Amino acid sequence: MQAVHFQRVTLDDAFWSPRLQLSASTALLHQWRQLETSGCITNFRLAAGLTQGLHSGWFFADSDAYKWLDAAARFSFAYTFSAVDNHMQQLILLIESAQTPDGYLYTYNQLLFPGSRWQNLQIEHELYCHGHLIEAAIAHFEATKTEPLLQVATRAADLVCETFLGKGAAFTPGHEEIEIALLRLYQLSGQAHYLEMATQFLEQRGGLGPIRFAMHMLRENARVNRRTKIREQQNSNFQREHPAQHSETILPKTNQAIIPRWSRERFLLGGLFGTYFQQHAPIRHQSEAVGHAVRFTYLQTAIAMLIHLTGDYSLIPSLVTRWKDVISKKSYISGGIGSLPISEAFGRAYELDPASAYAETCAALGSMFWNWEMTLLEPDAAYADQFEHLLYNAALVGIGQDMTRYLYNNPLQNNNGLHREPWFEIPCCPSNLARTWAALPGYIYTHKDETLWIHQFIGSSFEHRLPSGQAVGIKVESSLPWQGNVRIQVDPENPADFTLNVRIPSWCPHVSITLNGRDYPFISPAIMMNPPTASGFDPREAQYVAIQHTWQNGDVLQLDLSMPIILHIPHPRVKSCRAKVAVTRGPLLYCLEAEDNPGVDIFEIVLNPNSLKARFHADLFGGVTVLDGHSTSGQALTFIPYAWWANRADTRMTAYVGLGISDQTIEKE
Ligand SMILES: [Zn+2]
Repeated sequence: MQAVHFQRVTLDDAFWSPRLQLSASTALLHQWRQLETSGCITNFRLAAGLTQGLHSGWFFADSDAYKWLDAAARFSFAYTFSAVDNHMQQLILLIESAQTPDGYLYTYNQLLFPGSRWQNLQIEHELYCHGHLIEAAIAHFEATKTEPLLQVATRAADLVCETFLGKGAAFTPGHEEIEIALLRLYQLSGQAHYLEMATQFLEQRGGLGPIRFAMHMLRENARVNRRTKIREQQNSNFQREHPAQHSETILPKTNQAIIPRWSRERFLLGGLFGTYFQQHAPIRHQSEAVGHAVRFTYLQTAIAMLIHLTGDYSLIPSLVTRWKDVISKKSYISGGIGSLPISEAFGRAYELDPASAYAETCAALGSMFWNWEMTLLEPDAAYADQFEHLLYNAALVGIGQDMTRYLYNNPLQNNNGLHREPWFEIPCCPSNLARTWAALPGYIYTHKDETLWIHQFIGSSFEHRLPSGQAVGIKVESSLPWQGNVRIQVDPENPADFTLNVRIPSWCPHVSITLNGRDYPFISPAIMMNPPTASGFDPREAQYVAIQHTWQNGDVLQLDLSMPIILHIPHPRVKSCRAKVAVTRGPLLYCLEAEDNPGVDIFEIVLNPNSLKARFHADLFGGVTVLDGHSTSGQALTFIPYAWWANRADTRMTAYVGLGISDQTIEKE
């Protein structure tokens, strides 16, 4: 099926519209200031020869500027903020000036190791940065229909193709992203060499085998260590020669989770033998979710895109097997993935400790990208359902209510002082969130032939063209995530036969549907029962209901989705959560935060599951639905939506509470 591009969809949603507005203004301006303060933008000035100094930040710092630009460009189509626009134009000029005549642009090498290119493809992020440059340029071209930045990106992409086409498995990137970018550039331009290059990067991946990869990594690691020493020497020389210019910005570390035993050793082994990079086997033979979680999701996204573009369905079985592995055994109840700090990677099946959870925001975003591409491949409501679950929980939690403070790792339990920060030493998540928010209207609708799908109930409208050429207006009004009332108005020019599929979410056991005020009888397709998942949440319980109708101007479809409080009991193999339960209502996961529960030991209390009641609290965070209840000993409890935690002073929090009974998932109206 085909997506409806976000530029064709007008968002009008009580929950999401204010968030996108603030993302396009407050968040982007805050992020720009941080990029300037941390030296990220100045790296481009230095590479362009406009000033003198040293490279700042990590070897992937360029990508943070590109993702910011990607977000600003996407937002610029629907939101106009002159300050953001000025920064965007300034950055584009810098990027143009910093690029070498043959298309190379990687300030880390240009400034620190001039003349050196493509030396450390696993550890450093040269191709990753070029990928984000290409994605930003596509966003800018789509928003403005002007070509200067696209020409920069095309030169870079052509250089990548000239350099790597025809090469083998040793020349595949350590951090996937370039594949997504090249496939998107192929979609835009129709130029076959971008498709060929992306296909090669994907199909050659894992081709070295673990032993040869280990030898390769030992050599690369030695080179990177030598570079680190050279860089340290350059830094100290510069500081000695230019004491007045030295002002080091100390940023918060990203990973502040509790570190389980053997984390570092597991990281080293995964890096050595390739699982960390998903380089341990060819993609068709990879059957489990392994390694760095962001890398993993970007790889799966690219594979799904490749299938969609080429029709190579032989890649689907292993892709679906990995999806099931994530859903069944490796997802937290928030939808977050990656349970190992340090390596930021998947752990073993059911290794999902809520306190040490890494669950990086970018991994949630990558997982959303992947589930969206799966939606385009197969009409299975599980993918859109998982997308919704990630959106409202594992992704939304990454940004604070003021839109300027962030979480990098997102544990399900916090008793060690983790709190939101305005920026990080590795600031990959804030701009990734912004560009995803900007594209949110594009994740709502798809179509194929005479059939239209509504995957997300987010207030919005767009004009659809049926294959006959007739225009149909579609307008969705929604009270999610607080209530389950959805109104869909359909306005064809003339009466038209087509099918409208709407997703009945996994969290909704009862739905009533009316068409123009009359009950619309429908038969729920049988849902295949699956073994219990690690988290207790299973998106495979979602389904599409097909509304076949001769639509007339002004037809109104009304959905009343029940929104019970659901208690999710983790799989018994999740040892750290035994006798605990997580609580959801609608698409939202809930948690206990110390601020709302004075005098309660939130980590030790035992919940009376029959006590929970939903209440809209108008004075909290501008209005949220909280859950009131009490413990088995009678202590009053208030749960807030998980994504809202860490916005106040006391950030002790748990999404798991003790449960006095041991039953399977319990529903409570
Ligand atoms: Zn990130």
